[in-house]
Parts: sequence; structure tokens; C-alpha cells
Amino acid sequence: MGLRLKGVAAANGIAIAPLVHFHGDLTFIPMRNLAPEEIAGEKDRLAEALGQAAEVIFQLRRELASDLSDHDTRIYDAQLSFLNDQTFRADLERTIQDRSCNAEVALQQVIARYEKVFEGMEDAAMRERAADLRDVGRQLLSVLLEKDRSVYISDGKDYIFAADEFLPSDAGLVDRKHLKGIVTARGGKYSHGAILARSLGIPAVVAVDDVLQRVGNGTQVVLDGDSGALIVEPDPEETERYQRLELEQAEAERRVFEVRFLSSTTPDGVGVRLLANVEAARDLGRIESGIVEGIGLFRTEFAFMERRQFPNEDEQLAMYRKAIEWADGKIVTFRTLDVGGDKPLAYFRTPEERNPVLGWRGLRISLDWPDLFYTQVRALLRASAGGHARILLPMVTSVEEVARSRAVLEEIKADLAQAGEPHDPDIELGAMVEVPALVDVLDEVLPLVDFLSVGTNDLVQYLLAVDRDNPRIAQMYTPYHPGVIRVLRRIAEKAISHGKPVSICGEIAGDHYFTPILVGLGYRELSMAPVFLPRVKLMVRAFPLSECEDMASRALALGHAREIRALARDKAAQGWSTFLEGADS
Ligand code: PEP
Ligand code: MG
Repeated sequence: MGLRLKGVAAANGIAIAPLVHFHGDLTFIPMRNLAPEEIAGEKDRLAEALGQAAEVIFQLRRELASDLSDHDTRIYDAQLSFLNDQTFRADLERTIQDRSCNAEVALQQVIARYEKVFEGMEDAAMRERAADLRDVGRQLLSVLLEKDRSVYISDGKDYIFAADEFLPSDAGLVDRKHLKGIVTARGGKYSHGAILARSLGIPAVVAVDDVLQRVGNGTQVVLDGDSGALIVEPDPEETERYQRLELEQAEAERRVFEVRFLSSTTPDGVGVRLLANVEAARDLGRIESGIVEGIGLFRTEFAFMERRQFPNEDEQLAMYRKAIEWADGKIVTFRTLDVGGDKPLAYFRTPEERNPVLGWRGLRISLDWPDLFYTQVRALLRASAGGHARILLPMVTSVEEVARSRAVLEEIKADLAQAGEPHDPDIELGAMVEVPALVDVLDEVLPLVDFLSVGTNDLVQYLLAVDRDNPRIAQMYTPYHPGVIRVLRRIAEKAISHGKPVSICGEIAGDHYFTPILVGLGYRELSMAPVFLPRVKLMVRAFPLSECEDMASRALALGHAREIRALARDKAAQGWSTFLEGADS
């Protein structure tokens, strides 16, 4: 039997393939003191790595040329110029010589020195070069460590991505055609890497302690995204068992998939609007527009994170228009920039914080940086002329923040009206409920907004004081906690009493176990990664409102997360068998 490592199940499904190591940063590198006779060899090793890294970047530039703008292609040229720069090379060689250290350590030191110089420059374009330099460092490091992803890209073989974490920028970099699974040492079920894996429909297990140290590069594994297990070098029987399971799952998925175009209505006619969460305009191409009633959460920051600099107003406008055109009259809910915390922007360095998740993030940054906020709101308003856009504010903490945001929106609307720029003057403004204290001021917030959207990923983290990214306490992070259910009830009651729509856009909206409870609590709009939509729809269609309300009352009366989860699981199983019986009869 293969060695079984335990992690946290983050995205359903089975994957069987070799594991490939990816190194995302320059922090974890081997350190060696060289004997004098080893120095010349180390310099040769460096020269070879410089040549190879240049070849990788050159190939990448060629492969991506048709997908990239001229500006982005130039980034690769800038990276190539670093690799060919004689001063850079001489500095690296000198560091190897003077410190008797290996090339990886020299690389780390020289890059840190250069970075400081670039970041201290007045000219923004020069400062930007620090990010290019870091990326060059990453590539060189992967060549030196012989953990080069390009081998797998060009080989065209299936693989399982293994790294400390799965970053949003990785989604654009990895060879997605052959990516069968994701395993990471860090993160939790609700961290952004996991969310991304689910929206890409790729099985994932996170929080596997020291996975890169314990499982060698290229080792065959089975990744079980349902139980959170990673089986290293499985024996033939295990492989066969999982292959069978994979086929069964594919068959179940095929059957669930059949419901996707049916209406999302309970048997007694209560409609529950199902919307999609998307991270980038390119995700839209993979969504069948007929199965969703719009976009409930467009996380605009992901597009910012994949770039090398802030997109200007026109670039943003083009991106938002794409989504609005795709939606063809349906709702598109754009969340304003939610960076900071666990979503840093490489080119927007914020001061080091002891508790970034409780720090300068989301709307707090937008309100402190009016240029940023104004540009985004203007672009959104201009895009709104072409369809039905809504603006959603992330990480709202107080009534004042909502009032200030509303004032900005009104001011920009007035400017645009005066300039004769087309826009939707009635664009709806919404607040995310993620900060627990906001729940107690909803009577004051609701008159200022048109809708609410509950971000349960953060709300749960703040309610339970459990970091959603911390693998050590990942098992404690549970939305089934009675405290969470009761707060969800209060939020729905408040919105209903003010006659304002309320949706859920956190991951529980896509957890079909939760569906009857959420409907019973009063939620009529759920936004999720599109892969979950058929299963959630199946649950909406399975139970009349009275049964959902009964489920909600029972969940509200229970005192333990495990009891609520068991209740939800049993109900989901009932919904599933009703569906199968209906389908077979
Ligand atoms: C949330 O917190 O539930 C949410 C939807 O936002 P994010 O996951 O991007 O923090
Ligand atoms: Mg959030």
C-alpha cells in the first residue's frame, strides 16, 4: 500500500498522475558553503542556468505572443535583457566567489540588492522593473533546482501541481490542459488557491504538511479531493480502485449535469436565483450562459493580480465590458478591488503588517487611495451603459464607509452626466457582509445600499477567529458552526425587513449540503463557482419551501457543528436519491 498523507479536501474529484514540484518564490532555497575548488564549477552551473532560463522565457514569449498585448510581450523582452546583462552576471559570479556560496544563495542576495535599488527610484516604470527581476529570479531558481515546469509543459504529460501554495498568478502560468490535480502544503479549504481550483474544476488537497519535502518530484500519486488524501506510489489495486471511483464520479456528474438547464425553483414554485462567481473575464468562455442568471461576484482583483501594473481606466473598461457583453442583459456584480490581506498585489507594496487579514485591505485601501477607487468606479459606470451592472463593496466595516462610497459613486455619476458619457444612472450599489460587527448596524447600512451579499469565507474566519489560510487549524474552520447559522439568519431577516435583496457569494453557496438550510433561512440568491451549479440546482428542486424552513429551524436549534453537518448531509442524500428515482422512473 502506498504511503497515505492527510490534508484538507479542497476541490472534489480524483486525480492519478505524477506530482510535479513548483517553486513559487526565492525564500526556500538550499544553502551550501563551497570549498575553493568548487567555485569555478558553480560559476559554470550559473552560466548554464542563465542560458536555460533565457531559452524558457524566449519560448514562453513565443507561445504566448498571440494572447498578449504588445505591452505584455515587452515584459518578456525586459526579462531577457536581465539574463543577458553582463553586470548582473558579474555580480552573481562575484557573490559566489566572495561568499563561497552556491548560485541559488548568490541569486537571492543579488536580486534583493537590485530590488532595493529599483524600488528606490523615482520613475514608476523603473520601479516596476523590480517585479520583472523577481520573476527572472523565480525562473532562474527553478532551472538551478531542476524543478522546471516548462519540461512538463512541453512534454504534454498529465501532472499534479505541488507547491507551497497555489497562487492566482499560477493559474495563468501552468499548463492547464494537462493539470489533473493540485496539492499544496499551505492554505485551507477557503483560501483563494482552493477557490480557484474549484472554479477551474480541478481536484485539490491543501494543507499537506511538508508535501514538497516528503514526496519527490515526479513521484506517482493518487489525489483524492473528496477525502483530502494523497496516496504516494499507490499499489496496482489502489490505482485500480481509484480509477473505478473516477469513472463512477464521472457518471454521477453526467447525470447531475442533466438538470443544469431546468429552472431553479422549489417544487412549490419558489425561485432561487443561481449566479456565477468568476475571477477573470477569460472564465466566462467556460460558462454556458444559459445555466446561470448572471454573475453574482466578479472578483476584479484577480485581473489586477495577474498584471504587472495597475490597469488604467480604459483597460479596465474593456475588461468590464467583456463581462457585460457576455451576460447579454443579465446581472453582472463587480466587486471593487479586494486586495491586501491574503491577496497582495506584487506591484503595490503595502507596509508589512502583523495581522494582514485584520489590516489594510479591501474597501479600506480603496477609500484611502481615491485615485484607485475613482478610476475603478468610473470604468465600472462607463461599462454599465451596455447592460445590467452592479457594484459591490468588499470588507465593509462601518456605515461611514458605505456613506463615503455612495458619495464617490454619486460624484462620478454627476461628472459623467455633465460630460455626456453614457452610464447607468440607477446602477445598484451593494455591501458585502464579511465583518461581524456590520451585522449589528445593518439597519443603518441598508438604507444606503441596494443589496447585500454575504461573503461567508471571510465572515466565518472572523466569527470563529480561525484564519482561513492556516493549515494547522483548518479543521476548525467550519461554516456549520451554530454561531454562523444564527448570524446568517439575522442577516437575512434584516435584509428582508428592509425589502432589499440579499445573496450569498461565499463558498457555502456552492455547497449543496447547505442549499436547503440557506433557502429556509430566507436566501433567494446564491452565487458560486459554476461547477457547483447543477448540484445546487438539484437541491433547490428537491424540497418545498416548508421543508427547507423546517431544516433551517432544526439547524438553528442545534448546538454543535457536527450535528448541523450531519443534518445537512442526510437531507442532501435524500435529495439525491429522490433525483435518481425520478430520473430512473
Ligand atoms: C468571501 O469572503 O466570502 C468572499 C466571497 O470573498 P473572498 O473569498 O474573495 O474573500
Ligand atoms: Mg472576502
